[in-house]
Amino acid sequence: MKQIAVASGKGGTGKTSMVASFAGFAGAVLADCDVDAPNLHLILKPEVVEKIPYRGMEVAEIDSDTCIECGACERACRFNAIENFRVIGEKCEGCGVCPLVCPVDAIEMKKRVTGHVYTAHTRFGEFVYGLLGAGEEASGKLVTVARKKAVEIAERVGAPLIIIDAPAGIGCPVIASIGNTDLLVMVVEPTMAAVHDMERLLEVAAHFKVNTVAIINKYDINEDVTKRIEDFCTARGIEIVGKIPFSKKFTEAMVRGMSIAEYDASLAEMMKNIWERIEEYVNASDESHNSV
Ligand code: SF4
Ligand code: SF4
Repeated sequence: MKQIAVASGKGGTGKTSMVASFAGFAGAVLADCDVDAPNLHLILKPEVVEKIPYRGMEVAEIDSDTCIECGACERACRFNAIENFRVIGEKCEGCGVCPLVCPVDAIEMKKRVTGHVYTAHTRFGEFVYGLLGAGEEASGKLVTVARKKAVEIAERVGAPLIIIDAPAGIGCPVIASIGNTDLLVMVVEPTMAAVHDMERLLEVAAHFKVNTVAIINKYDINEDVTKRIEDFCTARGIEIVGKIPFSKKFTEAMVRGMSIAEYDASLAEMMKNIWERIEEYVNASDESHNSV
């Protein structure tokens, strides 16, 4: 089984619409790993099959029957998460200090649900997405759980490929999305920060020894910067598998809940060509990644 991560240094590059388009050609399991703000489901309109609770952080819990109301825990908590011998769940950082100071062992650390992983059917095939609760952390771990679920489903249905829609930017969830994949597809726009964004993504890819290709979206909004991106990629041996002109149709398609390939015939042709080149890259890799 092969795995492809599609990532961009910043949001709004058209990445999700591209992932949905590739899905229409690929026969893959899709995984939306942008667990802080997933949006692939807006296009895929999934029929949810399973909602799996994700237990992330630990939170303190006071057993009021055992508590002797000495106040030691409240004084020890530097997050002010204990008031009147009760833990305020949203404030608890799970540091584990209060159980240590309790003289009667009235406090236990318990895992709490901080997000969910959903599995679903879509018109393009099986789909997995993670959603972290508002303000929750540890999104990298939730990405790993979502990816493991995608591998499990791909094995069950016999899908040869997983396409991962990685979060924008760089950080734990992006690293967790790219690690142990066969190919990183970087989607960039010709903005001043583009080269810097690519450098950061390439550092992650290099760390995991993941091959990389690039797509330049809206290449015609600044052809000077596009040239700089092309030079940057050439110098590093990164193939640009597609250059897509600016088109309002990306937004129009998104609003209608369609991929760009479903919405516009000429862009569909372009996306198909890009996908075929990506497929060649993935098939050229001998390795198989049945794990995360
Ligand atoms: S676990 Fe840490 S943050 Fe949570 S209530 Fe106890 S001392 Fe405060
Ligand atoms: S330290 Fe233990 S006994 Fe004291 S107030 Fe906190 S929970 Fe109650």
